[in-house]
Amino acid sequence: MNNKDYYKVLGVDKNASQDEIKSAFRKMAKKYHPDLNKDNPDAQDKFKEIGEAYSVLSDENKRRMYDQYGSAAVDGSSASAGQGYGGFGGFQGFDPSDFGFDDIFSSFFGGGFSGFGGNGRTRARRGSDTLMKIKLKFDEAIYGAEKKINLDVIEDCDECDGKGGFNEKTCSTCNGRGQVQTRTNSILGPIVTSSTCPDCHGTGKTFKKTCTDCNGTGKIKTNKDITINIPKGINTGDRLRVSGKGNPGENGGGNGDLYLEFIVGEHEYFERDNDDIYLEVPLTLTEAILGCKKEVPTLYGNVKLTIQPGTNSGDKQRIKGKGVDNQNRRRKGDMYVIYKVYTPKKLTREQKDLISKLNKTDLNTREIEDFNDFVEANN
Ligand SMILES: [Zn+2]
Ligand SMILES: [Zn+2]
Repeated sequence: MNNKDYYKVLGVDKNASQDEIKSAFRKMAKKYHPDLNKDNPDAQDKFKEIGEAYSVLSDENKRRMYDQYGSAAVDGSSASAGQGYGGFGGFQGFDPSDFGFDDIFSSFFGGGFSGFGGNGRTRARRGSDTLMKIKLKFDEAIYGAEKKINLDVIEDCDECDGKGGFNEKTCSTCNGRGQVQTRTNSILGPIVTSSTCPDCHGTGKTFKKTCTDCNGTGKIKTNKDITINIPKGINTGDRLRVSGKGNPGENGGGNGDLYLEFIVGEHEYFERDNDDIYLEVPLTLTEAILGCKKEVPTLYGNVKLTIQPGTNSGDKQRIKGKGVDNQNRRRKGDMYVIYKVYTPKKLTREQKDLISKLNKTDLNTREIEDFNDFVEANN
């Protein structure tokens, strides 16, 4: 999972104060606002990144989580979750009253802010899903496999049950309301805004003793090997959900899910097309002319095939049910054998004599006769 450096994004020091962060954010957001950068297509991404960085660093709780565990612990990680940037997931918890210049932002965000700020932060929120790409060998994908993967999982702290501390009491800063009111002076005059209490992060409760195991975050990062059962027939792009191993939730919301997306390697001989398997089988000149019985490999051991006399390069033969046994789709593909006749480049004197003798006989087929007629008519 890629870890973003939010401090670098805003161009501030790791020890920057909230005022410094806010001012850096305003400067950057103004600079990269999409409306002011119509001919710079990168500005919108940059602008989102800035918003995401600010939503984390401006929230002391999230900032602590981020300092300790990195961006996977705090953001929507939309990019890595492969879900696009729907609904500005990265901006949750980012309060419009943090700006003194709503006009610029309102044009970009429209009414999208109405649900943010206020009590939204204390609601239990399930963590976002994550995506991990896994490479499989051809055989592992065909026959299924047990695969061990190493994961960093952020889970509720055992010591404090995910609360972050012991002996809960009502927060004295906000008297349990979870919100504090601040008065700011804007160009339009003083504005009173409500914001989440910095001491209890909107819960209205603080602890007499902070949990030292998790530094009050309520979350612990553990590194785990988990064993995944890969079903038979997985193909490139298929996804498997591992429940509860995604990003951590907030305020008691559970973890998101982890999605594994597979990339399947190739085989030296077998070629896969969805659930069908193609195999090129080489034939000698005489095998092709006279026909023969030949042992041919399949995914499930060798089979003996009868090759008809007069087989040509490119002729196809279907072997029903010898394709991929796809457990997800509950179907079995077929296998197709494609013959290819190999004409020898070097012959012994004896072989040359024999072929010359053969050449004196009439070997023309109907296709060759038709072509010869065409050559003549074209003259
Ligand atoms: Zn704890
Ligand atoms: Zn409080």
